[in-house]
Amino acid sequence: MQKIPVTVAYGDGIGPEIMEATLRIMEAAGAQLDTEVVEIGEKVYRSGHTSGIKPEAWDSLRRTKVFLKAPITTPQGGGYKSLNVTVRKTMGLFANIRPCRALHPFVPSKHPLMDLVVIRENEEDLYAGIEHQQTTDVTQCLKLITRPGCERIVRYAFEYARTYGRKKVTCMIKDNIMKITDGLFHSVFKEIGQEYPDIEQESKIIDIGSALLADRPQNFDVVVTTNLYGDVISDITAQIAGSVGLAGSSNIGEHLAMFEAIHGSAPDIAGQGIANPSGLLNGALLMLAHIGQGDIADKIQNAWLRTLEDGIHTGDIYEEGVSQERVGTQGFADAVIARLDQAPQTLKANSFAGSKPIAIPGYEREKKEKTLVGCDVFVDWQGDSADEIGQKLESLTGPDIKLKMITNRGVKVYPNGFPETFCTDHWRCRFISAKAEKLDDGWKYPVLNFKQVLELQNRLNDGQVDVIKTENLYEFDGERAFSLGQGE
Ligand code: NAD
Repeated sequence: MQKIPVTVAYGDGIGPEIMEATLRIMEAAGAQLDTEVVEIGEKVYRSGHTSGIKPEAWDSLRRTKVFLKAPITTPQGGGYKSLNVTVRKTMGLFANIRPCRALHPFVPSKHPLMDLVVIRENEEDLYAGIEHQQTTDVTQCLKLITRPGCERIVRYAFEYARTYGRKKVTCMIKDNIMKITDGLFHSVFKEIGQEYPDIEQESKIIDIGSALLADRPQNFDVVVTTNLYGDVISDITAQIAGSVGLAGSSNIGEHLAMFEAIHGSAPDIAGQGIANPSGLLNGALLMLAHIGQGDIADKIQNAWLRTLEDGIHTGDIYEEGVSQERVGTQGFADAVIARLDQAPQTLKANSFAGSKPIAIPGYEREKKEKTLVGCDVFVDWQGDSADEIGQKLESLTGPDIKLKMITNRGVKVYPNGFPETFCTDHWRCRFISAKAEKLDDGWKYPVLNFKQVLELQNRLNDGQVDVIKTENLYEFDGERAFSLGQGE
């Protein structure tokens, strides 16, 4: 078998110890790897590289396209950027995959049958990091959900299920509230799901979905979701599996993939030779599957499960009555190596054999007719009477445009607001064509041109209205593409 080039980083804290153990096990199992070592982490940060990675490491990553990374210590204090976020964003690692399974009774769990995988979109959503303070009272964070982003992650989840013999994919969203953003994720899930009739499919609103996940995780198989929800639920699932220290994860992009343990560098036990290498080993199994060495991954997984069954445990999972022998990091690795031809007797292995990198087709943008039908002008206004600002704006609208409504934190306060509604200094003022008509089933919005929007802004500015920003309102193929205010 041809050797596959892999970039390896030993990291900080317990990183070097668990990396050594992991590489030893892989070598003994016959993994065909050509490793290139790069330096990342605390020393690199302190030498003036604010992302914790040296420029030459990028060359190695570009060459090998596969990164096995031990945990690092991120120095506290200003100016240091998370290495993980930097690699994830720079290299376009759009999918985060975190398998979480119970190893009961060898590692006690309240959910002995759980065995699921969280597949989380990794680049968009509220994590695009676009935040502003707009008024004294109000801050905002932009939630970006894109069609190519949704298509890639949803297809990845279905392909993952097929490749690894998983039976069901659950989509988790909050589209009863965020109808446009989470609604897009959900509709892409339903669209792409039609291409996978062999896989059971369901959707859950994230609140009840996470409650069920925490209570009955054995009912889930693959869960696909957006960035923020995925961040939260993947920590919950790792925790309730009873094995935070044992789980690995992968970050997959079109060009590169990164594999690691989910835990950190554990400085409290570094250098003592007692760390559990299982988290990084599980990350490495995902890597072997990714590079087409799934049979080697299976062999190691079998030996690892057998070692746990035999009660050979590191201190973090050692329990009197369950464990047989307390071992250190290298002792554990030796025990796994000694069992490389054995299979578990109770625990079920998840086979990686026959796996191959999951290829996602390129994105094809659909042509849509986009028309401008209005604008939301956000205004900083320190008064507290909605009628007062409403009347002022009405007097500045001009001949082509009318004020449809004003909301404060999304609730309609003008016209005909409730005096009980609490108002901040941040007013969203919706303008549409003066010729717009209310029909039985909604509104008919005549088209505006951008010049009319600019003229409106000029009139507002001349009238001493403090405009924070303007958001254009569009229809795509005649469909309204903006949300309505509460009570609009
Ligand atoms: P941690 O995961 O390093 O440690 C939490 C606890 O779990 C500690 O008591 C530790 O001893 C124990 N633990 C963790 N891994 C273990 C293992 N393999 N075997 C036995 N025990 C283990 O989390 P932390 O203490 O919050 O963070 C330490 C450092 O790691 C910080 O600098 C943090 O920024 C960094 N970190 C890095 C990554 C990464 O590189 N991907 C992830 C998380 C945290």
